[in-house]
Amino acid sequence: MDPLIQNELSKLDPTIPFRASTAHRHHTWAKTFHSRPELYIRPQTIAEIQKVVTLARRCRRRLVTVGCGHSPSDLTCTSSWMVNLDQYNRIISIDDEKRVVVMEAGIRLHDLGAELKKHGLAMPNLGSIDNQAIAGAIGTATHGSSTRHGLLSQSVLGLKIMLADGRTMSCSAEENTELFRAALVSLGALGIITEVTYQAVPAFDIEWQQSLHSLEEVMNDWSTDLWTTAEFTRLWWMPYMKRAIVWRGDKTSKPRRPQKQSWYGGLVGYHAYHILLYLAQWVPSLLPSIEKVVIAVQYGFTSGAVNTAVEDGHRGLLMNCLYSQFVNEWALPLARGPEAITRLSAWLNGDRDAARIPFDPSGLYVHTPIEVRVSDTSSTTPRPYLDNTIPDGPTLYINATLYRPYNRDPPCKHRYYEAFEWLMKELGGRPHWAKNFQDVSCQEFWDMYPDMGTWVRIRNEVDPQGMFLGDWHRRNLLPLPSSSPEGQGAEAVPFLPLEEHEVARVGARGGGLDWSGEVGGSGDVDVGVNEKGRSPGASDSEESFELVRAGNGDGDGTGEGSVASLSTSMYMSMVSASETTTTSTSTSHEEEEEEEEEEDL
Ligand SMILES: Cc1cc2nc3c(=O)[nH]c(=O)nc-3n(C[C@H](O)[C@H](O)[C@H](O)COP(=O)(O)OP(=O)(O)OC[C@H]3O[C@@H](n4cnc5c(N)ncnc54)[C@H](O)[C@@H]3O)c2cc1C
Repeated sequence: MDPLIQNELSKLDPTIPFRASTAHRHHTWAKTFHSRPELYIRPQTIAEIQKVVTLARRCRRRLVTVGCGHSPSDLTCTSSWMVNLDQYNRIISIDDEKRVVVMEAGIRLHDLGAELKKHGLAMPNLGSIDNQAIAGAIGTATHGSSTRHGLLSQSVLGLKIMLADGRTMSCSAEENTELFRAALVSLGALGIITEVTYQAVPAFDIEWQQSLHSLEEVMNDWSTDLWTTAEFTRLWWMPYMKRAIVWRGDKTSKPRRPQKQSWYGGLVGYHAYHILLYLAQWVPSLLPSIEKVVIAVQYGFTSGAVNTAVEDGHRGLLMNCLYSQFVNEWALPLARGPEAITRLSAWLNGDRDAARIPFDPSGLYVHTPIEVRVSDTSSTTPRPYLDNTIPDGPTLYINATLYRPYNRDPPCKHRYYEAFEWLMKELGGRPHWAKNFQDVSCQEFWDMYPDMGTWVRIRNEVDPQGMFLGDWHRRNLLPLPSSSPEGQGAEAVPFLPLEEHEVARVGARGGGLDWSGEVGGSGDVDVGVNEKGRSPGASDSEESFELVRAGNGDGDGTGEGSVASLSTSMYMSMVSASETTTTSTSTSHEEEEEEEEEEDL
């Protein structure tokens, strides 16, 4: 370990463990990106988290908090320090009467569901999986599929977040509302969310059924009852077959009835489908036939074929996501759905006139089905500043999934996503923050989000040194200093001293990309809240956000060090002074898990 870190560590309270390892290799669930953090830290108490923040500030390190790495982009990649709260995952309290649960923010959704179940409670809605940490799911605007529900974060009543100066701030609709709205979709860039207060609902069972329909039928029902007859509805659209599977689920008190094992959920089907997708890497024109075979084996050969079950609601809402994949999902007004699907369908089937998409589809074949889901956040208040859904009506999500058979990128990716994103933008869409959008500039994000300036201002106020900022944030959210044309139209944000800059992304052995960034920000060892005589275990949740904003707190100089008060050239010279680069060698995840050794330093 870097002697600087050891030296600074030796000055902090030795009774508070610092659970860090130096040999962790991070990768996203889909193995799309890999990175090697200098330290991988797994705190178990708030005092330990505060010690991490203090040490990072003193050692000039960027911090990335990671949930379970299910965001498939480079959002969670770092060569600096990675904090994981899997061991800070306890339920703090459950109020059975009010159905309010307070939890440590590292809890995974499946564990939360299991704890709630013991109290006859449940989460009101879920996405396709429940592996995510609650803070990770909230942080990227994760959603399920229902016009009667909004984002998963809709049920968040309050958050606690540890800021870069070591203070823990509480926020909710009533308290520090601006911070709350910024933190509801924080993308890890505000601080470490440590506690979540959540409104649960009575536990429920769900009866679901799925059936095959012609696309024409689906389009005809679109604006009548397609999305409203059941509480939960989602579609899988097969563009080559011009059909869709409609999945509908409703709460029920009927006796449970297990679902039939799906074909690709079984050993043979899983591997057969995977191999077929792999073959199509060389012969992409096989993909329409693969769609037909797989769907026929899975769902039957005729329209209306039904598969159904009655299950525990939590389980019933989940689905098998199969293989490594790129996901490029956009939110747009539900009413634009028929146009979106009709034009994309035309493009994928080679009809450029009907598609009106200015890219050539000839010879292009894509993976399907395309996932089509909904939410309605129009009654959500207060709204997250970076909420990508439609504020005044229901939202449609179209998810162009591309499998990565055996972790290999499909050849159609660039051209497909180029055309898909062009159409989504034309229809007023905004991409899912966690996913693999490829052609959206920072300026376009600013044009899409009227509240982007507010989010960036709050972010910079609570983290003026950029401890929680990485290249993903810079690229997408923070306009470059004014020398770049990107900065025009949106307020340029100078480089911040602890912000991590990407150095390289190179092909990883076994697929995906090895991402590396700079390690170690610039500037002198910093002085923050803990260095002024407080115990690193003390949480200052009572201190107001206004105090931080005014720069009057005894944090690490948020007033004097505010972004506005430092010149661009000063920031840039600070950044260029920091040249430390790490390179990563690739090993498999399995090897990494073996080689990883936790040091309690
Ligand atoms: C198979 C699969 C299925 C999916 N299904 C859906 C779906 O149905 N609907 C949908 O909307 N999305 C879906 N997603 C996307 C997924 O919900 C998001 O990527 C989610 O953010 C992942 O949670 P995570 O715990 O892995 O967070 P990570 O990917 O590890 O992190 C996500 C963000 O949260 C931040 N973060 C994590 N913990 C904290 C913390 N304690 N404090 C501050 N910031 C934090 C990270 O820094 C990062 O910016 C799916 C992804 C996969 C791989």
